[in-house]
Amino acid sequence: MSATSHGAVAGEAGRRRTFAVISHPDAGKSTLTEALALHAEVIDEAGAVHGKAGRRGVTSDWMEMERKRGISITSAVLKFAYRDSVINLLDTPGHGDFSEDTYRVLAAVDAAVMLLDAAKGLEPQTLKLFDVCRSRRIPVLTFVNKWDRPGREALELLDEVEQTIGLRPMPVTWPVGVAGELRGLVECATGEFTRFRRTAGGATRAEAEIVPAERAAVEEAPHWANAQDELALLDEIGAKYDEAAFLAGVATPVLFGAALPNVGVARLLDALVELAPSPAERTDVDGRPRAVDAPFSGLVFKVQAGMDPSHRDRMAFMRVCSGRFERGMVLTHAGTGKPFATKYAQSVFGQQRTTIEEAFPGDIVGLVNAGALRPGDTLYAEDPVEYPPIPSFAPEHFAVVRCAEAGKHKQFRRGISQLDSEGVIQVLRSDLRGDQAPVLAAVGPLQFEVATHRLESEFRAPVTLEPLGYSVTRRTDAAGAEVLDRQSEVEVLTRNADGALLAVFGSKWRLETIRRRYPEIVLEALPAGS
Ligand code: GDP
Repeated sequence: MSATSHGAVAGEAGRRRTFAVISHPDAGKSTLTEALALHAEVIDEAGAVHGKAGRRGVTSDWMEMERKRGISITSAVLKFAYRDSVINLLDTPGHGDFSEDTYRVLAAVDAAVMLLDAAKGLEPQTLKLFDVCRSRRIPVLTFVNKWDRPGREALELLDEVEQTIGLRPMPVTWPVGVAGELRGLVECATGEFTRFRRTAGGATRAEAEIVPAERAAVEEAPHWANAQDELALLDEIGAKYDEAAFLAGVATPVLFGAALPNVGVARLLDALVELAPSPAERTDVDGRPRAVDAPFSGLVFKVQAGMDPSHRDRMAFMRVCSGRFERGMVLTHAGTGKPFATKYAQSVFGQQRTTIEEAFPGDIVGLVNAGALRPGDTLYAEDPVEYPPIPSFAPEHFAVVRCAEAGKHKQFRRGISQLDSEGVIQVLRSDLRGDQAPVLAAVGPLQFEVATHRLESEFRAPVTLEPLGYSVTRRTDAAGAEVLDRQSEVEVLTRNADGALLAVFGSKWRLETIRRRYPEIVLEALPAGS
């Protein structure tokens, strides 16, 4: 690679902002995604990104989409230009359920936006996802949404963030008017006030007007005075923006707004461009950094099957980590050393697929016919590199799966091993249960539905599931397994994918009793969850 192209790659990487929104269902993630796209002028009317009917996250809708073999919102990567930047917004599954995919997406981002409902504050799924961000040291920006509706006090919400997750809030904007009566937003650093007026229906941008302080004090009384008091208080407690604290994951810039009427959304985009980090060097399995302008490397973070109605294809989503990707490149699969041709490289958003000719660090490339790829795999060109595997998360749901039809055992085995290799579900085994009755383990119960559905439709192997009453998982070793095998209400299973010994317990209480009785045995928590 020539010196100029090194510079070009670094420059392109510097323009990228790759992030995901973490939130609890109903906080407004889909609405925010649409609003962001609207500001970027990718689409011209809110709602056009993906159909309302399909995205309402009930299980049946989602399964219906799978059935139709359409591309669901779960696979969306929204890429658009904003100012001089290129924004990649990776969507985490929109349904009200967890799956491993949700977590894996976070392996491919450089920042996250934590979206809070002004009336609800921190909710359970937000907390779980935040834990993942913390463990991966992903900087988090906070957007307090639905300020156009009655909600909690701004200061109280900040306090909750600090008390509950220990993240120091640094307001970037401050609302004038309580939740439900939003008049506008003050820029904390400069004091500039932007007033918003809603337009009918909220389907287009709210009108924004910069109003001088003297006028605002009169026209927006008493809200203006209240906001000024609060800002003075924030000044006193030292909530000023601190870049190092944000990048280190100990503090979070906070912005207020309302995605539905499009208030504060452009400001959020500005904050992403100005504050969020661009792709940086990534550390490989041996702890060596690979610079963004090194030869090409990419990390597969998600594999989705059956995305094309006419083919049984599999698409792997790869994040470019270093170098320039060019369609047609022949890459090397780090795990096997085998070549991987990239003739069919696409970008995917909703139903749209576009062929990608080139991509830079931070971009997401969809690779079609990716039968050989699994989440966590590294692909590289020229200079070999392998990134650490994406950790699998502590499963909280378990069920024994059995083939329901005589004569379909071969299909059953093939299906199970396929789903396992794609990372759709974790497959656990034990000598006691035998090969005919492996245990499926999931982070969220919806994964069971997907697995059952695919076993039946794709592999023609109808199955029965027998739920097991375990909910807590710990990693143990051979010595621990020997002790645990003699206890009741605990079972040790071997995870197919990596051979890890997982001890599963009916409750935390059961785990604690055993831990107290046998303090010497290894019982290690898995990342996030449990
Ligand atoms: P998701 O489950 O997080 O994707 O949430 P949605 O984007 O589907 O939003 C959930 C509900 O909240 C929908 O009825 C939205 O119209 C509504 N909503 C989202 N953002 C706002 C907002 O800023 N203000 C108001 N009033 N409603 C909102």
